[in-house]
Parts: sequence; C-alpha cells; structure tokens
Amino acid sequence: MKKLFLLSGGLDSTANLIKYVEAHGTEEVIALHVEFGDAIRHFAEKQAVTSICAKYQIPLYTQRVDFVPVADFDMLLQCALSFHYRQIPCEELWFGFTGLGGGHHYQALFDYAREYMTRLNTFDLGLELKRPRLVSAIDGLTRKDLSEIVGGELFWSCRNPIVDGELFEPCGRCGTCREYINDGVAHGVMRVALNSVPTRLSIHGISKSEVSDEDEPS
Ligand SMILES: [Zn+2]
Repeated sequence: MKKLFLLSGGLDSTANLIKYVEAHGTEEVIALHVEFGDAIRHFAEKQAVTSICAKYQIPLYTQRVDFVPVADFDMLLQCALSFHYRQIPCEELWFGFTGLGGGHHYQALFDYAREYMTRLNTFDLGLELKRPRLVSAIDGLTRKDLSEIVGGELFWSCRNPIVDGELFEPCGRCGTCREYINDGVAHGVMRVALNSVPTRLSIHGISKSEVSDEDEPS
C-alpha cells in the first residue's frame, strides 16, 4: 500500500521525505503537492518539490486549490484524503510542517487530525472507508536537525523572496527568515526555472506581496 508524502517544498516536508527515504528507500512512496495562494514564493516551493521527487524518482501528484475555504491544515488533510479515496488508496499519510516551528511534537496535531478525519467520513456513501494512518519522520526534531537532513537539497521557506529575474533570495526579514536566523539555520538562494510556474499564477499573474501572510504552512 502507498505511503503518501505531503510536500510543500519547505524545510520540514523536504526533511521528512529525505529522512524516510534514506532509511527505508522509495518503495510505495508517492508525493502530493498542494498548490494554493498566489504568492511569488510558490514558484520556488514548487521547484524544490519537483527537484527532490526527480532525485528519488518519486511519482509526484499536484492538487491545485483556487481558494482555501477552511484552515490551511484542514485543507491539506482534505486534499490528502480525497487523493486516498478517489485516486490511489494510501496506507500512510506522511506530514512535516514548518508551521510547527521545528522541535515540536506532532501528537497534538495528529490527535486533532484523526478527529477531523473521522468527522469528514460521517457521510454514508455506502462505501467502506478505510482511513490512512498519520505519520511523521521528523517528530521532535529541531530546525537545525532538519537543515542537516536536507543538506544541499533545495527547499524554500521565506514568505517574501527578493526576486531578480530567475534568482530568488530569502528576504531575511519575514517571520520565517527571522526564525531561521535565530536558529542559526542557513536559507540559500534558488534559481527558479520557468517550468516551475504554479498553475494558478500562470493563469492569473502575480498581484500581491504576502509579507503579512504568516499562517500558511510552508
Ligand atoms: Zn523571508
């Protein structure tokens, strides 16, 4: 049965995948990237996701969400569950969230998620619904630990990159950049190829900066 890794392109989800694959290999591993919002950083996030999946030859699926009607974490759970029920049945859902800030334990989040998944399944469609297990390979690790796991692989966590042509640089000022600086973790620059343009941006163009958008998981 498949193991579905949620990949945002941020440090946590990238470290989560690498830690698992380096220990257990890529058998049954598939990845889901949820595209949402219209911030310019999504270019870099998508490139990081594409890059790590290409390295390990992991099948990558993308779900585009044009608007987010619920809390971000709820949306990610809904996307993962929809994928499990409607595309490919998965035995395990693997999560890693920068939003938890490194070093936090996943227990409370997963307790909430299990309750939420149970309630999502209260519609009786005459189907036998088997919920996947929630797992994380980076429970309790600090941001420094995660950075060592990721090593030289691409990730993107800055909320408001400084963009010069194809070159993306971390701003050094957003909440995430400040946390990285405080934790002594380096956030590199990235050259972003054109084919990394998120679908939604390619349709609507880029219209706003997201300096204040601190609550999206990355
Ligand atoms: Zn930043």
